[in-house]
Parts: sequence; structure tokens; C-alpha cells
Amino acid sequence: MVSHLFFYQLVLLALAWLFMMLHYSWPSDRTAEGQRPLQPIQPPRKHSKEPKPFAGLTPKPLCAAWEQDALHAKLPPPVPPDPLPSTNRRPREIDTSMHFCPHAGCRYRGWLGLGNLRATGHPNGGPWRQFYCRACKGDFPEHHGTIFHGKRVPVELLVRVLACLAEGLGIRATARVFEIDPNTVLHWLVEAAEQLRAFSRYFLCDVHVKQVQLDELYAVLRDVKDGELSEDEALKRLDRSPSWGWTAMDPESPLLLVIAVGTRTLKMAQQVVHHVVGVFAPGCVPLCLTDGLKDYGPALLRHLGCWRQPERHQATGPRPKPRWLPLPQLLSAQVVKSYRRWRIVDVQHRVVFA
Ligand SMILES: [Zn+2]
Repeated sequence: MVSHLFFYQLVLLALAWLFMMLHYSWPSDRTAEGQRPLQPIQPPRKHSKEPKPFAGLTPKPLCAAWEQDALHAKLPPPVPPDPLPSTNRRPREIDTSMHFCPHAGCRYRGWLGLGNLRATGHPNGGPWRQFYCRACKGDFPEHHGTIFHGKRVPVELLVRVLACLAEGLGIRATARVFEIDPNTVLHWLVEAAEQLRAFSRYFLCDVHVKQVQLDELYAVLRDVKDGELSEDEALKRLDRSPSWGWTAMDPESPLLLVIAVGTRTLKMAQQVVHHVVGVFAPGCVPLCLTDGLKDYGPALLRHLGCWRQPERHQATGPRPKPRWLPLPQLLSAQVVKSYRRWRIVDVQHRVVFA
């Protein structure tokens, strides 16, 4: 007679066997993985899509603007002249410390707060004050060098016209609103752009940013340069002169670091990146996001790169040549947007330097 214990052990073994059979025959991820070798073996790919690490360049990439800056950097910085002592006349009531003498040939030209200027009242009762430079004995009005100099129109009109243009109203529409000649509006716009350029050059320096977005906007812009184009021709060209508006901005602030107009070429990309990098504070290497234009890659590499000595692969023989590589902290990626009927339909990201 078979003991109960043996019978139970037999049942237990049968259950264990059933459980194992079920476990291996049940469809699951594991079985799916196990079946993979049954699939036909693919031939090995000749060209792997895995990105290879960038080997670096043996010659340093060129940038025309950089070479130009290097030439200017050799000139010693100008030394300010000594402040002029105050005279025994009555104490000055008008603060002239934020103005400078504009006269060519004056030693005090361009220097602020050296006591060489004196306010001499309003000539002919006009709105603008006159200044006198004690160093060169020259006079100049306080609005010299500003957009208001040489204009007989009220300041408010000029400001309102520029405000309209800044809000996106066209030149001809602005001219109609204020009942003035479109050529006058065009002149003011060009002058305002020059002022803005000077303002940006002075204020935008030593900027700390974590991120910068470089982009080109397709825009119809006029290429108006002094003497090259008559106003009528300039106005006519407005609609048929395609140029690219290049921008670089910090999306966090959002601070527009560079605006430039030009062709969509490597040379222009170099110029824009050169300008942007010149605005950064020393040691600032932000994340650089660009559109699909490949020319940003060499431009960023040129301006945010350094020489590095590659490691030896062999114990003997000559040392490998130093390579120009991106700075270790440089991160750069392309954000490629696809548009359909002026709407973004797809966004792709590609890492360039990491
Ligand atoms: Zn002077």
C-alpha cells in the first residue's frame, strides 16, 4: 500500500511540473525575447548611425572678424587727459558730466566728467542748451550726436513715429497717420537704427546667459546705406529685396543680443557668432541652440573652441598634433522646426556638441 506521504509528494511534483510548463509556454516578453534568434539574421550594417566623437581640427578655423579684432587689440588703450580745474566764476548749476566734447582734434573728445564743459544757455530761446568746451574753445548743442540734432520737428512727433514703426506699422502707413513724407519716415528709421546699434555696442557687454538661441528670420528688409540708394529706390526695393534677419537672444531674460541682416552663408554665421561671443562675460559658455543651418557648427567651434593635446595611441613615435576642439563645457544643439502654412508641424532636435 502506498503511503499518503508519497502520494502527496507525487501531487506536489506534478503541480511543480505543471507550473514550470505553464511558465515557459505562457506568452510573455521573456518568451518573445527567447524567440528572437529564430528571426532571420540581419547582415551587419556597413555604416553605423551612432555618432562618432568629433576628432577635432589640426588648423584653427578662420574668422575674418577675429583677425580684425586681433589687429585692433594690439593698440594701447587711450589715456584720458587730466581733469580741468574749476574756474573762480560762480559755481555751475548745470551738470555737464554726462556730455563730452565732440570736436575732432580736441584732447577731451569722448571723455566724460573732466570739467572741460560749461553750459552757456539756450541760443535764440530754443529748447536745447548750448555747451562750451574750455579745452578747444568750441561750442556744441546738448543734443549733438542724437537723432534730434538738426531737426525742426517736435521731439514728441519723432518719438511717436518711431514708436509706431517699433510696433510694426509700415513706413507708408506711419507716414499717412502723421501726414508726413514716407522718405522722412525712412530717414528717421535709418537714423534710429544707427543709434540703436551704438546703444547696443555700449551697453551689451559682459553678459551672463545660460542659453542663447541663434536664428535667421526670412524677412524683406531694405539695404539702405548712405549715398548708395536714393529714397525712392529704397522704398521701391522694400518688397523685392530678400535678406535674412539674423538674431541671437537669451530666451530667459529675453534679451536680444544680436540683430544682423545678410545672406545665409558661413561668412555671415561667423560674423554673428563672433558678435555674440564678444558680448559674453569672460568664461561664459551658454547652451547654444540653433536652427538647422549647418554653418553654425564651424562658427561655434571657431569661437568657443580651444587647442587640446590628444592622447598617444602608441608608446613610441611622434606625439600626435594638437587638435582644435570645442570647449569641454560647450553644449550645442539644433532645433529644426518644420512649418506648414505658417504653423509649426514638427520639431526635431540634434545634438551638435556635447
Ligand atoms: Zn573740446
